[in-house]
Amino acid sequence: MAKETIAVAGAGTMGAGIAQAAAHAGLEVLLYDSLPEAWPRARAAITRGLEREREQGRLTAGQPETIVARIHPVTRLEELAAAGLVIEAVPEKRELKRELFRQLDGILAPEAILASNTSSISITELGAATGRPEQCIGMHFMNPVPLMALVEVIRGLATSDATTEAVRALARRMGKTPVEVRDFPGFVSNRVLMPLINEAIFCVFEGVATPEAVDDVMRLGMNHPMGPLKLADLIGLDVCLDIMEVLHRELGEDKYRPCPLLRQMVAAGRFGRKTRQGFYRYEGKK
Ligand code: NAD
Repeated sequence: MAKETIAVAGAGTMGAGIAQAAAHAGLEVLLYDSLPEAWPRARAAITRGLEREREQGRLTAGQPETIVARIHPVTRLEELAAAGLVIEAVPEKRELKRELFRQLDGILAPEAILASNTSSISITELGAATGRPEQCIGMHFMNPVPLMALVEVIRGLATSDATTEAVRALARRMGKTPVEVRDFPGFVSNRVLMPLINEAIFCVFEGVATPEAVDDVMRLGMNHPMGPLKLADLIGLDVCLDIMEVLHRELGEDKYRPCPLLRQMVAAGRFGRKTRQGFYRYEGKK
């Protein structure tokens, strides 16, 4: 079973989605979270997603239950030892991820691969926290994972060709398209997307337009399927701020300065959809 077993560490928005996509592809998934309440929440989200697919005729009766049964929640990190590959999806905090990589390095089999779903933190640095930097790699899924086609594959300085090929193959097996990029802050996706979102927030901060107007301009004028502020609410404003901080600090240019309004929203606990309030309210209607 070990060969077909992967693990996901962190059962939040992304971890639950990654576990769902992997189980959908027929893999057994160990899903680890440090909070006991994470699993019931993740299971509810996964079940909702799979039920929707069944209603749309993309799954048959009984398939959602079979897929969920491939996901095994665990609460002790040591229980991930059976996995040939771990995808880390804990919050975007450098020290937290470094420490998790260090601990996993001591638990996993020598040939196992350590992948991170980080949005912006250096894969080279995470790899350096382990004794196996050639087996460390970025596997950056997009939100919502079951629906989005891209996996940005990030090679650290030491990442081997074999590790890269194994992760590309896994992404394809999960029905995704892997795109390889180099290890620089924000990679490609967030280096381009986050300044766009940040600038949209500046437009609101400076009174240029309301959130609705900013989003309408980008939707109707640029054909974006979703406005940048609605997207920011979906990603999580806390996550957006964390990524802007990394871009600002590591690329060192003022153009990456997080908007004060973004800081204020996060300080107020308005993280977007997950707290039911961000640039929009989510109590049924916006
Ligand atoms: P989240 O806050 O929804 O989930 C994080 C989970 O990690 C929580 O369930 C939490 O209990 C758990 N956790 C915290 N510390 C832990 C530990 N030490 N060990 C195990 N579990 C722990 O966060 P998210 O939005 O799923 O983001 C996770 C990662 O994915 C981040 O690195 C983020 O940058 C990245 N990412 C997020 C998005 C997005 O749109 N939200 C998109 C792509 C990548």
